[in-house]
Amino acid sequence: MLYLNRSIEIIILHILMNLLLGIVCVLSYGRIVGETNWQNMKTRHTVIHYNSMNDLKKLNKNIRFPSTTWNAITKYFNSDADMVEEKLVSKVDILFERVQEILGMHNKLDKTKIFVCQNKAQLREIYQKFYKKPCRLRAFYIYEFNAIYINVQDLNEGILSHEMAHSIISNFSMTRPPVPSTEILAQYVNKHLFR
Ligand SMILES: [Zn+2]
Repeated sequence: MLYLNRSIEIIILHILMNLLLGIVCVLSYGRIVGETNWQNMKTRHTVIHYNSMNDLKKLNKNIRFPSTTWNAITKYFNSDADMVEEKLVSKVDILFERVQEILGMHNKLDKTKIFVCQNKAQLREIYQKFYKKPCRLRAFYIYEFNAIYINVQDLNEGILSHEMAHSIISNFSMTRPPVPSTEILAQYVNKHLFR
């Protein structure tokens, strides 16, 4: 009984901590992503935040699936039909589910945010604001916002799936695994993405 009460206490404490974290995150959120005119588009697993239609087109072009593994899908995506948004939504969700499958982590999550930065400068500015140190990364994931940040000019399906893995692993259980472990698993995803 004592043990049960202790568990309930821990769960309540966890919920309160998350609520507090949520409030702090909402307050600092706008400050991090800046004043740029972000628009957003929802997919089943993510919310894609972007600055322009042109960036969405670039994002769609940069996420590619090899025809050998994804024959039917690639056939559809290679069609000339002018449906960038629909293609992108499908691609992002297929990629997300592929990462979940590789990791064997299928639990329901809050939608992962994907911020599509226009260039390296915008990506680095967000990193600098949050971490208070210079950014040397091509993309990154901030657990506190459950948000992925990518540069549309330097992106491929490997980079995006790696950051998706960080989001899936970090939110799989109530206890967040240590960062080095999530990095090993995220790299495992890269190795097995299309195998
Ligand atoms: Zn990583």
